[in-house]
Amino acid sequence: MDIAVLSVSLNVYSTARIAEEFEKAGHYVEHIDHTKCSVQLGADKPRIFFGTDDITDEFDAIVPRIGTTVTRHGVAIVKQFELNHVFSTAKSQGILRARNKVSTLQLMSKKGIPIPKTVFSINPYNVEDQIELLGGAPVIIKLQEGTQGKGVILAESKKSAKSVIDTLYNMNTSILLQEYITEANGEDLRIIVVGNKIVAAMKRTSGLDDFRSNVHRGADVEAVELTPREKFIALNATKHLGLGVAGVDLIRSKNGPLLIEVNASPGLKGIEAATGINVAGHIVQFVEKNALRPIK
Ligand code: ADP
Repeated sequence: MDIAVLSVSLNVYSTARIAEEFEKAGHYVEHIDHTKCSVQLGADKPRIFFGTDDITDEFDAIVPRIGTTVTRHGVAIVKQFELNHVFSTAKSQGILRARNKVSTLQLMSKKGIPIPKTVFSINPYNVEDQIELLGGAPVIIKLQEGTQGKGVILAESKKSAKSVIDTLYNMNTSILLQEYITEANGEDLRIIVVGNKIVAAMKRTSGLDDFRSNVHRGADVEAVELTPREKFIALNATKHLGLGVAGVDLIRSKNGPLLIEVNASPGLKGIEAATGINVAGHIVQFVEKNALRPIK
């Protein structure tokens, strides 16, 4: 098969690993930087160009690795491949929803997937009431489109929560407020789902001086055994978002597992190192099974 990996750079561990596994399995792989793609509409057939090359009919499947920059354009390119009936490991709408924490949580809540108590608003005049809706301080304040733990703030008192929330509302920053799950204790679970199957799972543990357990923040990782309920949540969240490949983050609360977020381009380095599982190889097998079937 001919495969396009859509990413701004091949010099990223995960993208390089995916390309490597496709090549090992005998497929032709091309790195397509979606920021260099254009779409032509209005002629007989919508055409996709990479620079000046017409790549409309070049590929049997695409593997989008759309990062945090130029998401909108990346999603539009994925959508065009989708509309042209090229198999994609992630639906464009899924990528867009997963990118925004509020969109994800709205859908999860509709589908009955457990999440921490969450409030979103832009109203600076009743911040205290919003904090009370979460049961009071401590609260977590998150940028809706933050990643790698960068826009996640723990406000331990009502006073500090109020001042931080006020500031962010006044800066027109899109945020959400969430109850702080104290008993998570700086730990979370990262579960990799590929094609309706859980292929790997790890526990991430933050350092003593942080509550955020992101690998990019130096969290320790180890393979973990999941409970049936955790597996159920991860598989369903991925399915509802329309993602073939996803990294689902859960935290273990005293009331059971809660979904924190879903990543449409999960990093492979931490999970492959922690579990010894060839996650990139699973992605290849998933594409091999599905690429030649018409997209639903
Ligand atoms: P990002 O997308 O930036 O990784 P997350 O929402 O996943 O943001 O939060 C980063 C980390 O902060 C999580 O991995 C988890 O360890 C911690 N965290 C997030 N939300 C909560 C919460 N409600 N209670 C306790 N810890 C949380």
